[in-house]
Amino acid sequence: MQLGRNIEINARGHLEIGGCDTVKLARRFGTPLYVVDEGLVRERCREYQRSLAACWPDFRVAYAGKAFLTMAMCRIMDEEDMWLDVVSGGELYTAVKAGFPPQRILFHGNNKSADELSLALEVGVGRFVCDNFHELQVLARLARRAHARPRVMLRVAPGVDTHTHDYVRTGQVDSKFGFTVGNWDAMVAAQWVLDEPAMVLTGLHSHIGSQLLDTAAFELEAQAMAELVDEIKQETGYQVEELNLGGGLGISYTGQEAPPEVGQYVRALTGVLEKSLDQAGLKRPRLYLEPGRSIVGEAGTTLYTIGAIKHIPGVRTYAMVDGGMVDNPRPALYGAKYRAVVANRARARSNQVVSIAGKCCESGDMLIWDLAVPRIRPGDVLAVFCTGAYNYSMASNYNRLPRPAAVLVGQGEADLIIARERYADLVACDRVPDRLAAGRMPVAAGEGSSS
Ligand code: PLP
Repeated sequence: MQLGRNIEINARGHLEIGGCDTVKLARRFGTPLYVVDEGLVRERCREYQRSLAACWPDFRVAYAGKAFLTMAMCRIMDEEDMWLDVVSGGELYTAVKAGFPPQRILFHGNNKSADELSLALEVGVGRFVCDNFHELQVLARLARRAHARPRVMLRVAPGVDTHTHDYVRTGQVDSKFGFTVGNWDAMVAAQWVLDEPAMVLTGLHSHIGSQLLDTAAFELEAQAMAELVDEIKQETGYQVEELNLGGGLGISYTGQEAPPEVGQYVRALTGVLEKSLDQAGLKRPRLYLEPGRSIVGEAGTTLYTIGAIKHIPGVRTYAMVDGGMVDNPRPALYGAKYRAVVANRARARSNQVVSIAGKCCESGDMLIWDLAVPRIRPGDVLAVFCTGAYNYSMASNYNRLPRPAAVLVGQGEADLIIARERYADLVACDRVPDRLAAGRMPVAAGEGSSS
């Protein structure tokens, strides 16, 4: 099997990531364990910046924090001169706590609360990406009260459909996100912000979907957005200064998918944009991209310990791991597929096919169906690749399982960036009303009620 970038097999036959022996990592930090390759994350940020620098005069690359956001990730993004896309008060708080410069934050979300908007005004986020008329009205009211003039991009749904899972298609007309272009909502919103003294319109935003494996839909998006820039100019006289085309570039999870390279994607997108803008005689706006998955997806590997193995002759062998849909809900949610190897015998030849089951009380808690592996035993370490994006960030405590730890690896060093949750963390927000306190006699049904 082809291993990912920066992944090797060492002399002991153990899988090594960022120069760290994964079997030692499993022993030292426990499993399940998210392992994040710092070098690869940084390399991906630079690849985006280099590619854009070669094609476009003025640009920003914002990391979409929803893919995987921790304070350490915010520090890396700051050091790499990235912008940051956040979608909630919690993500914003994480970034600010980590010392990420608020002026390089884009605040997204299709239903931001007044509290979230107030926090964003208070810390001074760089751009509010406004999604609907309700948000514009609330933000304008809060901005007036705070004597602030937030900079606003309008998220639009450009009517571009994509070939990806229904749950990650976002640019079509029938979407909860953004102002519809086709029914003139986007135009009305642009005029509304232009007329609002408490706000500054800087431009437009669109994001059409995620895990996209070719450039066709991105090219349609670029063309549709250039047309909208032109229409807004014609109707209102306003020249869009900033155009954000979102994220969405896919990665190869199984080795079967063949997404374009970052450079190829950027060239395709900017090529169409340039042509469409030139034809309309429009200036080139500052271009923003917001990749998430393609920055961090491949850099993540999850280590599990194999426990019970159930062999049903003539049917299937299940190998159960100590995590599952709680730390990686994507297979259950989207039918996502993954590759994996037995990390402590990474060179051994596969001689059987097993299915990797999680430990949750759900038959649907299956991580991988039909994985070729060598002989396996309880205690073996399984490494599942490409789990950096939308795994930890979508993790839950279902079955009251504590969420795993995460370590950042590079040049043979490993640092904890998320501590493993403890049982005490699981009950930290529980409250027991006095009448239910341990040791008190239960009140019988009907007792105490007047009759
Ligand atoms: N920008 C927006 C507005 C998004 O909703 C998303 C993901 O859904 C992204 C960027 C990042 O997308 P991806 O992780 O596919 O690059």
